[in-house]
Amino acid sequence: MSDSTTPAFSLEFFPPRDLAGQERLVRAAKQMLAIQPKYVSVTFGAGGSTRAGTADAVRTLRNLGCDAAPHLSCVGASRQDLRDILQTYKNEGVRRVVALRGDLPSGMGGDAGELRYANELVSFIREETGDWFHIEVAAYPEMHPQATHPSTDLDHFVAKVNAGADAAITQYFFNADAYFDFVDRAQAKGVRVPIVPGIMPITNHTQLLRFSEMCGAEVPRWIRLRLAEFGDDKASIRAFGVDVVTELCQNLLDNGAPGLHFYTLNHAEAPLAVWKELAL
Ligand code: FAD
Repeated sequence: MSDSTTPAFSLEFFPPRDLAGQERLVRAAKQMLAIQPKYVSVTFGAGGSTRAGTADAVRTLRNLGCDAAPHLSCVGASRQDLRDILQTYKNEGVRRVVALRGDLPSGMGGDAGELRYANELVSFIREETGDWFHIEVAAYPEMHPQATHPSTDLDHFVAKVNAGADAAITQYFFNADAYFDFVDRAQAKGVRVPIVPGIMPITNHTQLLRFSEMCGAEVPRWIRLRLAEFGDDKASIRAFGVDVVTELCQNLLDNGAPGLHFYTLNHAEAPLAVWKELAL
């Protein structure tokens, strides 16, 4: 649906854990095909815990007609593991991958793997497979939670792009200025690839605070206060969430964001409601 001037929309799913989850994934994906995403992506459990599940979900989504990109993280993996996974995807005709370092789940032991950071994974993918894959990497407008300074974190982002990434998807945020500031600073360092904002729908107060705590995304005080006041009133939380996220997306698109990447959490309702409000 897109040329270089049309915003590109993409959707992120996670691999289902059981049959009910599989049905939910297919239902959500079918509902969301209406918005003609440029591609969809499927997360990967760092350390390989969802290796088969990610590949299966990618197959499912490709069978529905989506261009699907598996996420791939290098933490806890050997070069041979990564080579095998890439080769399997290549054999199946997958042309996109989201390349990440990942975080080893607690309790998985201390083997960090053979590649330390995402820039090394991007270089490895290019060495092994040339230009076969379109590579997306992660970006953190509010700084990666383990980074010590915004400037060094930005340098690490630039290194991933220079290693051969074609585009970036950001961690979600609710403060558009953080995104614009990050893009300006990245461009000042020579980054020319699209940096697509990651969009998290607001549907569940507790879950949003938990995710945000883990990934270092700031939920502004006024949003937290409004959500707290809604208590268990799910309908009001959803309606408020659609308003807030629609306004954020509109601001991003009006001011030059090259597209939007929705974290769907395998549910179509909230992203589709935002989509409808955006009247795209
Ligand atoms: P990196 O870019 O390697 O950065 C990690 C940290 O190391 C940063 O603090 C950075 O500043 C620092 N760093 C980078 N390079 C160097 C260097 N050379 N020397 C010193 N420090 C360095 N996680 C999953 O497990 N599965 C997923 O599917 C998944 N999908 C994601 C999708 C998106 C769009 C985003 C934004 C995140 C996703 N994550 C996923 C989370 C991600 O794996 C974590 O945030 C992880 O901690 C960092 O991964 P990265 O690829 O950004 O790492």
